[in-house]
Amino acid sequence: MSGVVHLVGAGPGDPELLTLRACRLLSMADVLLVDRLVGEGVLRLVAPTAEVIPVGKSPGEDQEAAQERIMRLMIGRCRAGATVVRLKGGDPMVFGRGGEEVRGLVAAGIEVTVTPGVSSVLAAASAGGFGLTHRGIASAFVVVAGTTVSELDWRRYVTVDTLVILMGVGDRRRIATELVAAGRPADEPVAFVESASLPDERVVHCTLAQVAADEVSIIGPAVWVIGDVVDVRSGQVLEEAV
Ligand code: SAH
Repeated sequence: MSGVVHLVGAGPGDPELLTLRACRLLSMADVLLVDRLVGEGVLRLVAPTAEVIPVGKSPGEDQEAAQERIMRLMIGRCRAGATVVRLKGGDPMVFGRGGEEVRGLVAAGIEVTVTPGVSSVLAAASAGGFGLTHRGIASAFVVVAGTTVSELDWRRYVTVDTLVILMGVGDRRRIATELVAAGRPADEPVAFVESASLPDERVVHCTLAQVAADEVSIIGPAVWVIGDVVDVRSGQVLEEAV
């Protein structure tokens, strides 16, 4: 008998933002492999008899070895007949290696389902009270991983209306410097949304120049949003746009 692996989006942290399907799968899982940023409140929905395996990767760790262990665990437990939930923060297909995991599981002959989750990108916009595509100000947004900063040519993102950066807190000074050097205005408004949807949620407004000058203190996890839309809530840009 072989089980099944469900890749499930845990949302940004608040359990109320889980989908009904995620709730159901959490309560029926035999085994859960859980990422670092999955909220504590979400884990309270797991059956008390379930085996919960934390598999969050820390920055210093060998990422490939950690990923291989995750695949081994999922495939092993599943072949033993378990219902396995692979729980990932936000949406499993946004910077979560979800696509790779689906591919690996399918290649191993494992049945797999994917349940989307509310990405931190979207939770951050809700927390900040600004629309990522506010009409008249931004017609598109791009989401990029700050951890790939050395591989990225920031010039590609100069003309993007709203630029959203995940995993960019640690390197924020360098990223801001590179974005300004590439042509984004130094006084462009920026918002960092920390711990979106959680009790310690905080929204920090500043400019790219302030980030580059290291004048902004941010405690991760945070979504970094760059563009005029972040000022809409305060009404500053709204008046110009209408
Ligand atoms: N799959 C996830 C993203 C994983 S990458 C999603 O869809 O949200 C991890 C990054 O997500 C963090 O470095 C941070 O930038 C962001 N993040 C995750 N949860 C967050 C939260 N509750 N508040 C703010 N940022 C968060």
